[in-house]
Amino acid sequence: MTTSGSPDPAFGAVVTAADRRYLVQSWSTQGNVDAIPVDRAEGRYFWDYEGNRYLDFSSQFVNLNIGHQHPKVVEAIQAQAGRLCMLASTLANHQRNDAARLITELAPGELNRVFFTNGGAEANENAVRMARLHTGRPKVLAAYRSYHGGTSTAIALTGDPRRWPNQHAGHADANVVHYFGPYLYRSSFNARTDAEECERALAHLAEVIEFEGPSTIAAIILEPVVGTAGILVPPSGYLAGVRRLCDRHGILLIADEVMTGFGRTGAWFAVDHWGIEPDLLTFAKGVNSGYVPLGGVVVSDAVYDTFRTRPFPGGLTYSGHPLACAAAVATITAMKEEGIIDHAAWLGEAVIGPELRRLAERHPSVGEVRGLGVFWALELVCDRDTRQMLVPYASSGAAAAPMAAVIADCHRLGLWPATNHNRIHVVPPCNTTEAEALEGLAKLDEALAVADRYAEGA
Ligand code: PLP
Repeated sequence: MTTSGSPDPAFGAVVTAADRRYLVQSWSTQGNVDAIPVDRAEGRYFWDYEGNRYLDFSSQFVNLNIGHQHPKVVEAIQAQAGRLCMLASTLANHQRNDAARLITELAPGELNRVFFTNGGAEANENAVRMARLHTGRPKVLAAYRSYHGGTSTAIALTGDPRRWPNQHAGHADANVVHYFGPYLYRSSFNARTDAEECERALAHLAEVIEFEGPSTIAAIILEPVVGTAGILVPPSGYLAGVRRLCDRHGILLIADEVMTGFGRTGAWFAVDHWGIEPDLLTFAKGVNSGYVPLGGVVVSDAVYDTFRTRPFPGGLTYSGHPLACAAAVATITAMKEEGIIDHAAWLGEAVIGPELRRLAERHPSVGEVRGLGVFWALELVCDRDTRQMLVPYASSGAAAAPMAAVIADCHRLGLWPATNHNRIHVVPPCNTTEAEALEGLAKLDEALAVADRYAEGA
């Protein structure tokens, strides 16, 4: 690991101890929490108090699309803080207006209005609320392989195992029905080609709609490219097929672009790759790289009309917070000025994709490489023929040890990737340079030797 700055390991130890003493950590067994204390960050790197430098291949929570401490965004927040920190949403503010205008200009079709929230879960809560009130129907269909947030409705929409304990606690929403989306590598439909997977996944969804009763379904919510649950790029034709099913039955389509929006897939929104227009589009994360919490719902004219003459029954103290909106305006403007979206598309196509495929040839533990833009997954397996996962789905403790060992080796090498179950997610900031990407991929190459020890044929 490269060291720099003026390390202060003693203070770092104090930071870690206080973190354990005073905080309740998301999704964690609290007794196991042992966070690395972070001192500072810049661009694609952050430093701990020992002076160790980490290359951020996670974009933190896949949200830091513009990298750490972008000077134009920091400056915009500072300027807005000096002028007006907080304003109730009943009073008008130009940063809020500008952020909404920029977002609607980027969003496809008739998505012309924004309801701001503090993050992604609240965005999905409100999108579902709007869809139910607009259609007068109760149910929402969501994919098993999905993550939509940790609040009440959002965790019920979520397919991944984080939903399970919430259902045990009685918090899951009964009006959510799950379905299987396309995932050729582990096809639920015994498909062998993308075309078969697409056709059969759509037939399955059509059947779920038929058996649930189309007139009871308000919306289908989906991540246009599934994120945390696998970085699953849909076969061409799938999203258009879902749109057609929605239109046939008067069901709204909600695109959850919380993770995919604002450059992650090499486009402003993932739906742009397939020319799909949802009725509601939710965003957060990349809209301002999380420098100040912000999310929202972009609303179609038709849904907006529902609330023209009757109240929209939702609201938040911090809806359209001026600091968060100033950060969004600066982020979107900088992304345009610096060509960051096109760069992310190029980096995926010319550097990350080809290099990851080369890694897959060398490492028997790599079952599949997939992704686009700066949104890639390595699926790690024990055996390429059987595709048995390197660690079982939803495993923890000893069963998850092989993945923990690979990740620990990445950290030892100064690389900070994202991970989920048996996968490593290569999700660096959109403005990662070619040299930085190659540096990280070389470290990943080294760390995969650890995974290979658990794989057949190593
Ligand atoms: N939707 C998707 C697709 C996400 O990836 C996430 C977070 O990872 C969320 C919603 C929830 O967003 P937040 O954590 O800001 O509430």
